[in-house]
Amino acid sequence: MCKVISVSNQKGGVGKTVTCVNLGIGMAREGKKVLLIDADPQGSLTISLGFDEPDKMENTLATILMKVINDEELAPESGILQHNEGVDILPGNIELSGLEISINGVISRETILKQYVDRMREFYDYIIIDCMPSLGLLTINALACADSVLIPVQAAYLPVKGLQQLIKTIGRVKRQLNPDLVMEGILLTMVDNRTNYAKDIASQVYEAYSETIRVFESEIPLSVRAAETSAEGSSLYQYDPKGKAANAYTEFIKEVLMKEGK
Ligand code: ADP
Ligand code: MG
Repeated sequence: MCKVISVSNQKGGVGKTVTCVNLGIGMAREGKKVLLIDADPQGSLTISLGFDEPDKMENTLATILMKVINDEELAPESGILQHNEGVDILPGNIELSGLEISINGVISRETILKQYVDRMREFYDYIIIDCMPSLGLLTINALACADSVLIPVQAAYLPVKGLQQLIKTIGRVKRQLNPDLVMEGILLTMVDNRTNYAKDIASQVYEAYSETIRVFESEIPLSVRAAETSAEGSSLYQYDPKGKAANAYTEFIKEVLMKEGK
């Protein structure tokens, strides 16, 4: 059975994209078949996996969604690229921002991505969606088609207020569009354990949320190597296999799989 995980936080720079790369490739290393979907017009996930010029690509999430809207025929392999670390990726680019505006008047505008993703479920164990930093229509589409939401939170600023807004949106999507949607959990990222501040933020997040939302025990440490991978086109497991961030992502994946009893 395929599980669709949407990686969301309307705040930018919290580690969504780096988490998608290392969660996806980490799952692939566990023998899972994984499709990563880049649902951010900035195309950061696409670029992070070494596909340098998403804006020049012809077949992307935007063109696929247009085909869904227009009821055009769509081969399942359409637009999908293979990364050398064993994951598939459907790239995203700037055309997604035009699309987000133009789908406003479309029937079932919140469930266009779902129509595509549901067709792809039979080919994968995990489909992981990298969301853009907003709570707009594309993010709503990602939440509407997901089985669970993973929320990366950067342990550097007071994240609490923004989180409440996100959680409210998730609740609304659950009530109105996707009753089976569950919280995967909150993942603390860029944790600088040398500072008390990071520890404060971590304990504040635990206090505020751990009763209602799982907060993963694994925390992703602040790591220069993690920041560098975005330009390397590879995962941390390849770029810095013995590093603390690669380790942390491995532990995090164990927690996710354990919860599923796998
Ligand atoms: P988002 O997708 O939420 O905008 P990114 O994953 O792109 O966030 O991360 C934001 C920036 O922080 C990027 O430059 C990325 O390389 C860097 N980064 C991500 N994770 C870490 C980490 N654990 N340690 C240090 N830098 C990181
Ligand atoms: Mg991103």
